[in-house]
Amino acid sequence: MSRQAELDQAAHERRDQLVSALIDWVRIPSISGVPAHAADVRRSAQHLRDRACEAGMTRAEVWETAGHPAVFAERIEDPQLPTVLVYGHHDVQPVDPLAEWHSPPFEPAVSGGELQGRGAADDKQHLLMHLEAVATLLQVEGRLPINLKLIAEGEEESGSPNFEALVRAHREELAADVVVISDTGMLGPEEPALTIGLRGLAYWEVRVLGPAADLHSGVFGGAVANPVAALCRLLAGLHDPQGRVAVPGFYDAVRPVSPGERAAMAAIPFDLAGFQAAAGVPALTGEAGWTPYERRSVRPTLDPCGIWGGYQGAGPKTIIPARAGAKLSCRLVPDQDPATITRLVREHLLRAAEPGVVVEVDDLQHGAWVLTDPDHPAVREAALAVAEVWGRSPALIREGGSIPPVATLAAELQAPCVLFGVILPDDRIHAPNERLVLEQLFRGVRATTRIWHRYGALGRAGLSAPAAPPAPGPPR
Ligand SMILES: [Zn+2]
Repeated sequence: MSRQAELDQAAHERRDQLVSALIDWVRIPSISGVPAHAADVRRSAQHLRDRACEAGMTRAEVWETAGHPAVFAERIEDPQLPTVLVYGHHDVQPVDPLAEWHSPPFEPAVSGGELQGRGAADDKQHLLMHLEAVATLLQVEGRLPINLKLIAEGEEESGSPNFEALVRAHREELAADVVVISDTGMLGPEEPALTIGLRGLAYWEVRVLGPAADLHSGVFGGAVANPVAALCRLLAGLHDPQGRVAVPGFYDAVRPVSPGERAAMAAIPFDLAGFQAAAGVPALTGEAGWTPYERRSVRPTLDPCGIWGGYQGAGPKTIIPARAGAKLSCRLVPDQDPATITRLVREHLLRAAEPGVVVEVDDLQHGAWVLTDPDHPAVREAALAVAEVWGRSPALIREGGSIPPVATLAAELQAPCVLFGVILPDDRIHAPNERLVLEQLFRGVRATTRIWHRYGALGRAGLSAPAAPPAPGPPR
């Protein structure tokens, strides 16, 4: 029996154990966004630390932050071997609306090859997938082919408010040749994928101020500016008729997408009908000249996320509102800098302000984009490992969303990031009836042992990119 066949056999025999370990952990309601669950998040961290020890990590600790605790674990075999840092999170989303769950979210149930429960897919399965790969490798080979570090955040579902400070405080301990993020998914059970890019984020609140107080629309209407109307015109002016963002300079830093990259994207088995159905819209729209997949991955956006102003109660109330406001967000792509985009958008909004109102813009959030060279050895070897297990090469995809901790790790550790996760599009993460498909998890364990062997065989030198360096987003 080959070494890999032995590993697969051992992983196969450990499957029931893995499922019951996952059930035990999903029972802990580690909801970071609900203060009443703070003790549960801590219990989840302690639970994970103990699991990491059992799996064979030689150091496992709960790391305190200003908020919920994180968990760090490592097993250093030999400083000459490549070091990989795995990132995941042990907190989970809230469960409401509870009435829509078919079974209680923290009483996980297995049926039909699926395990249902809040946090089962996102992200507890991935952390256990990694610990299971460690336990399997140690059982069969007695050592890991790499040095492994693991950081599990406890506040990812709450916006990672303390993660950057945590990484800065522990930069030496977290240092690695490659960062493997396991918090994403694939295109389908037979459509494997690795994620190599994420968009960045910038977020603002805009306020349009008019009269000192709401005014009588008969006495003043027609002679004073109306902030609600002025805000609507401002927002309407943010895009041109082709769906392009109309802020001057907005696209200046956007890195061109080559014809080759566009051809590769066109070949990705992206389920357009499923995407539209998931959105629940009568038609897909967007920037002219780009496909829906491109619009949501390699093109930047600017979207109002909320709007308010004036009277919204029952019946009529005849006023000129004193103020109006909106929340705006951008998804950013290489090489857009959140701070530069913030300046451009603010200047544009202030310039476009009509006489009679004052426009204010507050900066709420910045997050850098991430893009790893698809030809980087860490990506290539992970893709080969995934192909061996799934029976076909994974699509290398750029996700439209932003995972700020990934940008933080890329920028602080100056290491390439490979996003390897097994979540499926219909796993209902963040929604009622979250589930995971056990076969995805089992395949994930088999792929992980292969990835570590491939990285170990390449060695530290082979794992560093020959030409293009990793491309983390601009510093925040
Ligand atoms: Zn997640």
